[in-house]
Amino acid sequence: MTSTLITGIAELVTNDPSRPGPLGLLQDAAVALDGDRVAWVGQAVDAPSTDARVDAGGRAVIPGFVDSHSHLVFAGDRAAEFAARMTGEPYSAGGIRTTVAATRAASDDKLIAHVARHVQEMLRQGTTSVEIKSGYGLTVVDEARSLMIARQFTEETTFLGAHVVPDDLDPAAYVDLVTGPMLEAAAPHARWVDAFCETGAFDADQARAVLLAGEQAGLRGRLHANQLGPGPGVQLAAELGLVAVDHCTYLTGADVDALRDTGTIATLLPGVEFSTRHPYPDARQLIDAGVAVAIASDCNPGSCYTSSMPLCIALAVREMRMSPAEAVQAATAGGAAALDRGDIGALIPGRRADLVLLDAPSHVHLAYRPGVPLVAGVWSAGRPVVGAAVDAAVI
Ligand SMILES: [Zn+2]
Repeated sequence: MTSTLITGIAELVTNDPSRPGPLGLLQDAAVALDGDRVAWVGQAVDAPSTDARVDAGGRAVIPGFVDSHSHLVFAGDRAAEFAARMTGEPYSAGGIRTTVAATRAASDDKLIAHVARHVQEMLRQGTTSVEIKSGYGLTVVDEARSLMIARQFTEETTFLGAHVVPDDLDPAAYVDLVTGPMLEAAAPHARWVDAFCETGAFDADQARAVLLAGEQAGLRGRLHANQLGPGPGVQLAAELGLVAVDHCTYLTGADVDALRDTGTIATLLPGVEFSTRHPYPDARQLIDAGVAVAIASDCNPGSCYTSSMPLCIALAVREMRMSPAEAVQAATAGGAAALDRGDIGALIPGRRADLVLLDAPSHVHLAYRPGVPLVAGVWSAGRPVVGAAVDAAVI
């Protein structure tokens, strides 16, 4: 194994809670990597000797983004639907069926190539960990196939058979399928189980049945809730003690209290509101109430076709009144917490060496310079995989 020192870091975001401040910031810092792990973090003047050295050139380094919510196993394109929505047509959950038809018709090779392209696109933008859901198959065979493909790219795979009820089935019969044969086929390839608890998709009793059956099969629950309007999903997530509940756009005071009291993480997906022109979640209210918050992309072909965590950070700051530090933390340590992962999301000795070199002197630039490609280099599990990390002159 080779050890590498990244030095000349103007600002290092560690997310180390034992350091002062929200991001555990260090100035004039260095990080030593050993194999796939962070070996040492501190002031550059105190750095240990290593096999190789990389000069960050006075730029900032942050942990790789942890995107805890995406739907990358799909085929087809809904650009026409987006264009129609932007000229005034409303978004509803039913558009999912268009993608289901295209996904079922696609070959394994086509789906694998499609996921690979999106995972690469994410990596170039600093995302080193991604959760991927099924949910565009909606048959026993197609859901299991989607998860097997997702597993080739991440261990964070989520069975979302309860995404929408297919046209040819009644809801009760479909829930029986999801909680029975479909779950049995999906469970070996998934870590999580999820449901779309929303008007037009699944109600609270149906979502509860899906999550409880998933837990019986050894999966852990997470939930799409309160996206398109007020609803029972957040209370259901709290009742079941889920690690995270996603969207949280329309919340009552009781919903906020339930999230705070149970410690369930609210995963906010501001790219969705941007792409659907819906009101944004009230992140400020959640954070001020003591609710833990994560940010994720929700990359999917319908309601939000961005894979960019930097864009989501900029939206969180501009539109949801999060501070730049809160948004960067929510996109890194927050995402790791939402996936219940203790090994990613922070630059602390022993954690996985997932690092992003920014073409900027501080993390603030991610929101301050929206739309600018600031990711200059990426290390994934200690391997240089993008840009300056690969090109870096060893000094
Ligand atoms: Zn989603």
